[in-house]
Amino acid sequence: MRTEGTQRDTRNVGLLAHVDAGKTTTTEQMLYLSGRTRVLGSVDAGTAQTDWLPVERERGISVRMATTVLLWQSRAINLVDTPGHVDFVAEVQRAFQVLDGAVLIVSAAEGVQAHTETLWQALRSMHIPTLLFVNKMDRAGADQERVLAEIAASLTDRAVVTQQAIGAADAFSGVAPLDHDALANRLADLDAAVLQRYVETGRVDPAYLRERLACLIRAEAAFPVLFGAAKKGIGVSELLDAMVAYLPPPAGAAQDPLSGVVFKLDRDPAMGRVAYVRLFGGRLRPRDVVRNATQNNDAKVTQIRKMYARAHEDVASLTAGDIAALCGLGAVRVGDVLGDPAGVPQSPHLAMPILSVRVHPTRAGDLPRLLDALRELTDEDPLLDLQWLQEVRELHLTVMGTIQIEVLGSLLTSRFGLQATFDPPTVIYRETPTHSGEGFEAYTMPKPCWAILRFLIEPAPRGNGLTYSSVVPSNRLLPHYQREVQRRVPEALQQGLLGWPVTDLRVTLIDGEHHIYHTHPLDWYVATPMAIMNGLTATGTTLLEPLYRFRLTVPEEVGGRVLGDLMRMRAVCEPPMTLGGRFVVEGQLPVATSLDYLVRLGMLTAGRGVFSARFGGYQPAPPDVRATRQRIGVNPLDRSKYILSVRGAL
Ligand code: GDP
Repeated sequence: MRTEGTQRDTRNVGLLAHVDAGKTTTTEQMLYLSGRTRVLGSVDAGTAQTDWLPVERERGISVRMATTVLLWQSRAINLVDTPGHVDFVAEVQRAFQVLDGAVLIVSAAEGVQAHTETLWQALRSMHIPTLLFVNKMDRAGADQERVLAEIAASLTDRAVVTQQAIGAADAFSGVAPLDHDALANRLADLDAAVLQRYVETGRVDPAYLRERLACLIRAEAAFPVLFGAAKKGIGVSELLDAMVAYLPPPAGAAQDPLSGVVFKLDRDPAMGRVAYVRLFGGRLRPRDVVRNATQNNDAKVTQIRKMYARAHEDVASLTAGDIAALCGLGAVRVGDVLGDPAGVPQSPHLAMPILSVRVHPTRAGDLPRLLDALRELTDEDPLLDLQWLQEVRELHLTVMGTIQIEVLGSLLTSRFGLQATFDPPTVIYRETPTHSGEGFEAYTMPKPCWAILRFLIEPAPRGNGLTYSSVVPSNRLLPHYQREVQRRVPEALQQGLLGWPVTDLRVTLIDGEHHIYHTHPLDWYVATPMAIMNGLTATGTTLLEPLYRFRLTVPEEVGGRVLGDLMRMRAVCEPPMTLGGRFVVEGQLPVATSLDYLVRLGMLTAGRGVFSARFGGYQPAPPDVRATRQRIGVNPLDRSKYILSVRGAL
C-alpha cells in the first residue's frame, strides 16, 4: 500500500483544451516521463492509456474524463483529463468541482478557439489558477507571436511568458527559461510588490521573483505561458515542474466533517459500481459507513482505490483534498454528495443540453434492457435526463450535439450489447412571457377542496431564469401552503403555451386564500399549474431559440460561399477577416439551422474548414419560426379534464 503524503504534497490538476489541441498526447507524455507507463501511448496508434472506451480509441476523441495519479518531484499529481469536444462539456463541468488548478492547452497551429474561451471563462468563474501550455510548436505555421496575441485578445492581459521557445516549426527543439530581467520587467507591470522592490533596490533576486510569481498565479493575477510539442516530448517535463511549483495544494483538513462529491462512475466486473470521489473534508477508511446526502441513505465503503493509468492500487484511507475511487457505495450516482453538503463547492453551468432525441431499440423486445442501460448512463451523466413516456412507450434523452448521439449509440453496443436507433434530434426551444399579466385560479369545486391563487407574471431579462416571490400575508395563506405553491411553480413552467420550458420571468404571488376546513395541501398541487397557465394566456409567450457563438476558419477561396451559407442559416456575423490566407468569421447562429453544418462544411472545404462553436444563449426566434412541442399529460387549461386526471393520479 502507498504511504500517504500530506496535503501539501498533492496537486489536483485538470487538463483542458479544445479538441485536437493535444491533451491526450500531453497526458501520455506525463505518464511516461513520470515513470507511470513504460511504453509511450499514442492517440494516433489507438494505444493511449487514458482513452478507455472503444469509441474513444476509434474516433480519437475523449468523451469521458479520465483520472490518474502520477508522481513528480515526490508530489502526487491527480491528473484529470477532460474531454475536449463541446458536446461533452457536461463532463468538464463535473471535473471543475474537483480541481485546484488547471492547465489549458492551446494549439500553436489552430490557436485560441471558441471552446477555449468557454473553458477560460468557466475557470475564471470558479477561481481555478491556470497555466497556459502552447502545444504543437513543431507544426508548420506554428506562430508564437500570433498565439500570444490571441491569448491577449480573447483570454487575458495577464499572461506571463516564462519560457523562450528555441526555434519554431520543424526547427523547434526545446524551451529555455525566460531571461531574468525580462521576467522581472513583466512582473513589475503586474505586481506592485515586485515594482517596489525594483524601485528601492534596483534589482529583484530570482528567488523572490519565483515566490511572487507563485503568489500571483494562485491569486489568478498572472497566468504563465509555457511552450512545447507534446508529440515530441518537448516542454512536458518543464510543464510538470510548473504544475508542482505554481499550482496550489488542496485546502480542507482530515479533522473537518466528512464532505465529498462523486464526479465519475466506472464499472468493475467484480466490485460493481466504482465511484470517483473528491474529499473536501474529513477522512475515509475501508469499512466506514458514509452518508449519501443526496440519496438520503448510508453505504459501507468496501475498498478505496488509487487509479494509475490502467492499473489501480488499494489504499488504507482517503483524506481531505485527495481523489480516489470507492467501491461499495451501491446505487450511487454522479453528483451525489457524501457527508456534509456545505463543504462541496458549486460547479459552473457550462453545459446546456439543447437537443432532444428519441431512442428506439432496433429489436422491439429489447425495450426493457434499453431502458435499464439508459438509466445506468443517466446515473453517470444526469444531464441526459432520460424521459420514459409510459403512455406512448417512448424514450427521450437530452443531449448537447450530434457527436454525443453517435457516442451514445456506440456505447450502447459496446457496453450493453444493444442496437439502438436515434431519430433526428430536435432543438429544445423555450418560451418567455411577452407582456406582464395576471393568472387566477379558484379551485373550490368539486368539493372537498379550496385553493385560490393570483399570480403576477412579468418578463425578465434574457438569462435570468425564474425569480419567484410572494407578497401574500400568512394569515391569508399559511406559510406551509405558500411553500407548496412555490415548489409547484417551476414544475408548472416546464411546459408553456407552446409546450416548451418557460424562462426569463418574474412570478409574484399577489393574492391567495386557503379555507380552514376544506383545504388539503395537495390542492395547491392541482391549482398552481392552472393559475400559471391562465397567467401565460394573459401574457402571451414568445418563442426563444438557442444560438451558438461560432468561429469559422476556411481557405480564402471559399470565403464568399461560406458567408452565403451563413446568411441562409440566419447567422449574425461580425466583419470577416483574412489572416495568412485563411478567411475567419465570427458571430451567432441558430442551433436549429446549423445541425448538419459540420458535414456540409467538410464537403465544401474538403476538410480544411474549422468550425468551433459554444452555446450562446437563447434569443427570440423570428416570427416565421414556429415550433411547438407535444404536451405531456393533460393541459391545465383544459380545466375539468385536468382536475379529473390529477385527482385520479393522486
Ligand atoms: P486531444 O483531442 O486534445 O486529446 O488531442 P490529441 O492528443 O488526441 O492530439 C490530436 C492530434 O494532434 C493527434 O494526431 C496528435 O498526434 C497530434 N499532436 C498532439 N500533440 C502534438 C504536437 O506537439 N505536435 C504535433 N505536430 N502534433 C501533435
